[in-house]
Amino acid sequence: MSEGRFRAVRRPRDAAPDVVPERACGACTLCCTVLRVDELGKPGGVPCRHLRAGAPGCGIHATRPTICRRYRCLWLQGGLEEEDRPDRLGAVLDLLTEAGTTHLAVREAEPGALERSPRLRAVAERYRAFLPVRITDTRDVMDPDAPVRLLLPDGEEQRVEGEWVSVFREGRLAERRRLSAPQRLARRALLRFRRWRVARARRRAAQEPAASAR
Ligand code: SF4
Ligand code: SF4
Repeated sequence: MSEGRFRAVRRPRDAAPDVVPERACGACTLCCTVLRVDELGKPGGVPCRHLRAGAPGCGIHATRPTICRRYRCLWLQGGLEEEDRPDRLGAVLDLLTEAGTTHLAVREAEPGALERSPRLRAVAERYRAFLPVRITDTRDVMDPDAPVRLLLPDGEEQRVEGEWVSVFREGRLAERRRLSAPQRLARRALLRFRRWRVARARRRAAQEPAASAR
């Protein structure tokens, strides 16, 4: 397991449990790579060591963690068209609610997936009409302060890097501003928490028996 691939993105617990009856993950196992699973000490952005070729894809299917049993991405819940299965889109999508605000979370499997995939862009734009869309990827996964893109319903795009926000309107840089003092304090507290969580995941991963490594 690579030292440099930890990331503070976890399978969301609040994903609605409903599955469209005719849908099944099939050949897709993308969330088993893209998302974090703390119960296994699995960082985001690396394949789970229990991932296997062929159905059901999970080598510990009968005893997999509860978070894996409960997780349903947006496609599995019917929030995307049939052809937009995550492994085809190149991203895992979820509707998440944080601090009372719901957004579409797009976690790219590879940097630039949104730009490369017309389907993924179409999905993002469709949701953007009524919700913020938050885009992250699996680069710099040791960095809990990795850049984030926000596509907002009014057409604005924000790129948050560290304490700075670049605002784009109609594709052009319109403004660059520093976060307010309360926002900076909240961000620093969040970073401390994320770093603690990443360190805990690393400790757990190091304690896993060598025999269970892929
Ligand atoms: S990303 Fe969705 S469709 Fe793919 S394996 Fe995970 S839950 Fe199933
Ligand atoms: S334990 Fe199984 S379901 Fe959970 S992330 Fe690993 S391979 Fe996927």
